[in-house]
Amino acid sequence: MKKILLIGTGGTIASEMTASGLAPELSTRQLVALVPALAEICETDCMELLNLDSTNIGPLHWLQMARCIQTQYDAYDGFVLTHGTDTMAYTAAALSYLIQGSPKPIVLTGAQKPIGFETTDSKENLTDAFRCAASDLPGVSIVFNHQVILGVRARKTHTKSFQAFASINYPNLGILRDGVLLRYIRQDCLSKPVFYDRLNSRVALVKLVPGMDRAQADFLLERNDALIIESFGVGGLPEQGGFFDCVRHWRNAGKLLVLTTQVANEGSDLGVYHVGRRLKDDLQVLEAYDMTTEAVTAKLMWILGQTQDLALAEQLFYTPVARDILWPVRNQA
Ligand code: ASP
Repeated sequence: MKKILLIGTGGTIASEMTASGLAPELSTRQLVALVPALAEICETDCMELLNLDSTNIGPLHWLQMARCIQTQYDAYDGFVLTHGTDTMAYTAAALSYLIQGSPKPIVLTGAQKPIGFETTDSKENLTDAFRCAASDLPGVSIVFNHQVILGVRARKTHTKSFQAFASINYPNLGILRDGVLLRYIRQDCLSKPVFYDRLNSRVALVKLVPGMDRAQADFLLERNDALIIESFGVGGLPEQGGFFDCVRHWRNAGKLLVLTTQVANEGSDLGVYHVGRRLKDDLQVLEAYDMTTEAVTAKLMWILGQTQDLALAEQLFYTPVARDILWPVRNQA
């Protein structure tokens, strides 16, 4: 029987009603005790790493999770992390950069309703996650509502429905039907994972609204090493408001600027319109193409944790990790 380590980090799945609202209370041992079917899938060890609402989870916790998996890696066949849904996509992306090429499954799951509620998705999600962790499913993934989503491609798209996550610009890795994993795609992996232990969290994000000027971008760029700008459609910047001078100034100051889109699907394509092409041709900003904003954020933190060299950082940004970006590959073909 496979040996799986369950690592608890909190979230709704482990929450109970308190006087001030739902808060993570249950231990991983208590979670496992509530789902007896898990004993038929694998041997389970339980670990309490964190017990947080995922709103409170950040880069230091991602490093803690990666370190925990690194320490335990040889002792287990797979890993399940229970995690709040709100920032699960960010954590999944971050772990995909911190633990690259894992041949063993690293599966994140959680729930929209606590495990103690009469109607809950907790038990099915946990059972599916264990099934996946005990299968041949390399890399980091999110298992939720019977879907298996690549860690770098996940986004929370519904705040309340059980169908909380979608895979953005990439197919699901598989689905679970009647408790059987139907795997459509096998993620590439190495014989041993490469672990990283540094992130630079000085990465900010600004979302454009019509009529905005450069002031917010300036404010964020003064305080950070990289700025992601979520612009409109396939991408561009308003020609009023000083944005082009802003970009030129901060690029010369050695900051990374990445243009992406507010639109959920199909990604950026800055070369299409005049408002975007100038940014690429004259100002050499980076663009996210088909990457999610969650993945762009985590990737920039990972890159800037490794290097301050702008040219190398840009090269790393466009180098696919765990199939996070497909466009440049397609353009070269
Ligand atoms: N606020 C919770 C969290 O992210 C929501 C959830 O788990 O579904 O921790």
